[in-house]
Amino acid sequence: MIYFAKTPSDEIETTLAHQQSLSSGTYRLECVWQQLAADFHGKCYLCGDKAKSPRIEHFKPQVLGQKFKFDWNNLFLSCEHCNAIKSDSYHQLIDCTTEYPDRHIRFAVRPMGAIGSRVTVQQLPESDIHGDTVELLSEIYSGTTTCKQIGAQAIVDDLLDELNDFEDLLKVYLESQDEDDLNELIWEMNNRSKFTAFKRELIKSNALYRTQFVQYFSH
Ligand SMILES: [Zn+2]
Repeated sequence: MIYFAKTPSDEIETTLAHQQSLSSGTYRLECVWQQLAADFHGKCYLCGDKAKSPRIEHFKPQVLGQKFKFDWNNLFLSCEHCNAIKSDSYHQLIDCTTEYPDRHIRFAVRPMGAIGSRVTVQQLPESDIHGDTVELLSEIYSGTTTCKQIGAQAIVDDLLDELNDFEDLLKVYLESQDEDDLNELIWEMNNRSKFTAFKRELIKSNALYRTQFVQYFSH
């Protein structure tokens, strides 16, 4: 989970308000899909993977009230897996469109690149956020039922491939000092790439990488 800048839009808010006034109104509108895909770079805000089966996610669950259903500020982009696990169960999550999750949570894979690697999601000691975010993300990467464990494993496999490629790229650049390799690395560390939070954590946890690359993080 990383910060995403959500685009304010009077036009979308007006359109959604009109839909709310209709007996069969819907928030699944073309303008909503397009702006969410742009703002979240086609990624699921929860797991960080590309949203292959995208869902319009209600950050605050619809069960809390009808107004949340059509509120543009409450509509996020997620994948099917994360949408199903979050469901209506989590009400006190970090809002990644107004806060920087990496100031509260550390994302890592331990041991890195080895058989039996596990995703760890830990709250930083200095953070005072509610435990909902860590609990939900842990469930997302591990699954809660057999079906969801299969979905979780697919995401973790994708994550491990992405991190292995990223580490290879780091090693290539440290050897070559080539500008094209550096530009590719910078792209991988920006918020458009998959699993950005894990790549940044990999950089921060290694002294050599940290001194060379933290300067290229962008939000
Ligand atoms: Zn997801």
